[in-house]
Amino acid sequence: MVKSLNQIRNDFPILDQKVNDEDLVYLDNAATTQKPRAVVEALAHYYYTDNANVHRGVHTLAERATADFEAAREKVRAFINARSTTEVLFTRGTTTSLNWIAASYGEKVIGAGDEIVISYMEHHSNLVPWQQLALRKKATLKYIKMTADGHLDMTDAAEQITDKTKIVAIAQVSNVLGVVNPIKALAKLAHEHGAIMVADGAQSLPNMPVDVQELDCDFLAFSGHKMLGPTGIGVLYGKEAILNEMPPIEFGGEMIDFVDLFQSSWKELPWKFEAGTPDISGAIGLGAAIDYLSAIGMANVQAHEQELVNYVLPKLLAIDDLTVYGPHDPAQHTGVIAFNLNGLHPHDLATGLDMEGVAVRAGHHCAQPLMKYLKVPATARASFYLYNTKADADRLVDAIVATKEFFKHGTV
Ligand code: PMP
Repeated sequence: MVKSLNQIRNDFPILDQKVNDEDLVYLDNAATTQKPRAVVEALAHYYYTDNANVHRGVHTLAERATADFEAAREKVRAFINARSTTEVLFTRGTTTSLNWIAASYGEKVIGAGDEIVISYMEHHSNLVPWQQLALRKKATLKYIKMTADGHLDMTDAAEQITDKTKIVAIAQVSNVLGVVNPIKALAKLAHEHGAIMVADGAQSLPNMPVDVQELDCDFLAFSGHKMLGPTGIGVLYGKEAILNEMPPIEFGGEMIDFVDLFQSSWKELPWKFEAGTPDISGAIGLGAAIDYLSAIGMANVQAHEQELVNYVLPKLLAIDDLTVYGPHDPAQHTGVIAFNLNGLHPHDLATGLDMEGVAVRAGHHCAQPLMKYLKVPATARASFYLYNTKADADRLVDAIVATKEFFKHGTV
């Protein structure tokens, strides 16, 4: 890495604090990541020096704000290797991006009897919009099964995706099982049947290099806040030819070309979809986050997380009574690790870990159908990121063991 791990940690002042008298170990990165100084400073700089509304003004601040906002779009384009900035729409996050596809493309293309194919491991954001679209249109929602160790079953995928399928929508990385799904192979399968491929990149964009041309997905949705950026900003990538055919979802200022009393026309891409004042500072903050990640290099980010997984997964698997979900081979597992301590509710486990200063999440992780599939009500989940260390991994393991002992004997 161009920066040492210590230098990286110094960029995140929030990490340097005590929680319950212990040094904080932040392992809830799949929910949201911390923000480096560069991102917070980009937001401050924008508000202190350039703040103005975009696109409409001719005065200097408006021109600067517009240039910064559109420069952020170009940073996103380069980060995902889209062909053009016309293919990069700013949204509020992954959830909004996926809802936009369902509301515009889905509403236009899906008819009675058509199929939408997703999987059992989808986050509610990549499930409920399709479920509701299917209900509205009397279409069929189909689920691709998983293998015993939590991978997408590609044999079943080949059976579920048929000539009736219009949309295949799958997470590139699961937010529970820590598996990477083969979006490129799924896109090929979808295209062979005349369907389009939607990739939910909420958990992949922060952690690995993603190239939309290489994947050949038709849409990609992701959130800024999970990749060091601010909350409230996200991206919908779509192939230009498809976006051009799609009707706008919202109407109002910024997205119109010409408004007459009884009809209107729309701006060209990408602004056709961005009605109203956008999250200007959010986009600029996301641009700063992308600069930060790009300077480190996404291959390095991924390699660092892999090293942590190689280190921690065998230690977790060695704890008696701990069930780890997803593949047990570290080489097949990303930095998202879900687990349960037998006999203990995951909320009690997470509370026990918090007592030790270790922040993890517990619950259904917005994946209730997956919990049902795994036959568990909920799990605890630790998720590692570029600023985590092997010492953090040790603290997690020690805190799990201490919590287990506490609930067994009533003392730590
Ligand atoms: N998809 C996946 C796989 C996720 O992990 C998340 C966030 N937990 C989302 C979608 C939704 O992201 P957001 O809440 O930022 O819209």
